[in-house]
Amino acid sequence: MSIRAQILNLLIDLREETNLAYIFISHDMSAVHHVADRILVMYLGRPMELADRDALHEQTRHPYTAALLSAIPVPDPDVEQHRERVLLRGEIPSPLHPPSGCVFRTRCPIAQERCATERPEWRDVGFAGEPHLVACHYPLDPGAASAETQLKSHQPKGEQ
Ligand code: SF4
Repeated sequence: MSIRAQILNLLIDLREETNLAYIFISHDMSAVHHVADRILVMYLGRPMELADRDALHEQTRHPYTAALLSAIPVPDPDVEQHRERVLLRGEIPSPLHPPSGCVFRTRCPIAQERCATERPEWRDVGFAGEPHLVACHYPLDPGAASAETQLKSHQPKGEQ
């Protein structure tokens, strides 16, 4: 077992044995998924989506979350070869000069005019009493096609 996996498992054991709560900050979504009960996705220092781990994966609402999850490798070569991916365009803007409106809009595959002028507020899109917060004017529909398919349908042909 790798050192990384040992450390992650140690964190989980510590939590379960001592009833410890902690904040785990990482760019590695597979590690976050392994360790966290509840996940907050941030972009340029702004909150994008907050939900329980399983809801975040199975009912992804924010385009940035969908792109992050799409980048996690699948350990099955057949699945990995044929799965859909969301590739983000452009560079990450400077946090000193963030884009107007939604800070993710310069890289968002489904950005619209409103996204440049109006900052999206946190809103609860959860159900059955489970809070699921998202900051997006046009959140993905978990009951429709996969998040990857919804986002790719808006990307220019050469980027699909
Ligand atoms: S508010 Fe607009 S730009 Fe921001 S994530 Fe939602 S659709 Fe994309």
